[in-house]
Amino acid sequence: MSEQAPDISIVVPVFNEEANLRQLFAEIAEAMQGFGRSFEVIAVDDGSRDHSFAVLKALHEEDPRLRVIRLARNFGQNPALYAGFSYVRGGIVVTIDADLQNPPAEIPKLITALEEGAYDIVQGWREQRRDHLLRRAASRGVNTAVSRLTRMNIRDLGSGMKAYRREVIDRLGLSTHHSRYLPAETAWLGVNVGEVKVAHRNRTAGESKYGLWALLRVNFDMIASISAAPVHLIGVAGGFFSLIGFGMAARILYLRIREGNFNQLATVSALFFILAGVQMICTAIMCEYISRIYVEVQDRPYYIVGTVLDRAGK
Ligand code: UDP
Ligand code: MG
Repeated sequence: MSEQAPDISIVVPVFNEEANLRQLFAEIAEAMQGFGRSFEVIAVDDGSRDHSFAVLKALHEEDPRLRVIRLARNFGQNPALYAGFSYVRGGIVVTIDADLQNPPAEIPKLITALEEGAYDIVQGWREQRRDHLLRRAASRGVNTAVSRLTRMNIRDLGSGMKAYRREVIDRLGLSTHHSRYLPAETAWLGVNVGEVKVAHRNRTAGESKYGLWALLRVNFDMIASISAAPVHLIGVAGGFFSLIGFGMAARILYLRIREGNFNQLATVSALFFILAGVQMICTAIMCEYISRIYVEVQDRPYYIVGTVLDRAGK
């Protein structure tokens, strides 16, 4: 393209958001004009089944700063974001949900924090999150688990509103496996992540795409993409069962020697615990090998260079 690259690329994943798009784009344009930076919006229609694509097409004809990509079917929010990333031209990339829950007026705040704080990524922390209690509780649990596993101290990993330096986006493209979730992938990259508080609004049109089942599936997939912790849990449970079994066996033996009595049911129970525990430990060992195969199949780069200091020698 001959025209100059914009400063900021804003990527929006869109799945059945027809009633939100016009206002979203108007709010983005207003926020960016006030900020005084050139921008483009890349809307990724993730196989919407409503009129989202027609609305995006009309908006694109009105203003070419909105570029539109339509995926062949619904792939999910993360694949849609990755698809958008492969089209960005700006030096800073911002992501925002299409449903107006993230106010576009907050975009300049994220960008300023990114530039002034020397961060690689700035996350929008939804301090007063406008979602159901159950949803907020589930997110808190996932957030704690992922923060522990990745040693990232971030309060709102699931927030759709983030600003990235372009180099981070380029590095994200080095991984090509199919369980790529941005919080996990960016943690793996070892980038410097900052947080700023952003406002959050109720969804007024359309509905959340994450029911209980989708939340469970996506979050398990994300945790499994970076950690074998679920496998370790099987091993720990197996060890626990075996210990109970051996404890029972020792007691049976003691009673047999000291008092000469023999309880058949207790013996069968002890054997059951020991066998179940050993089985679980064997399963966990097999899963350890499988998880290593999984890591190889993911084909992430072996290492990523952060900084190189290399003064030409005399
Ligand atoms: N989204 C998407 N593909 C999907 C599910 C969601 O592109 O399969 C988009 C959706 O249109 C929205 C963003 O991802 O722009 C966040 O989705 P949603 O608002 O449903 O999530 P919640 O706010 O409930 O976490
Ligand atoms: Mg939402």
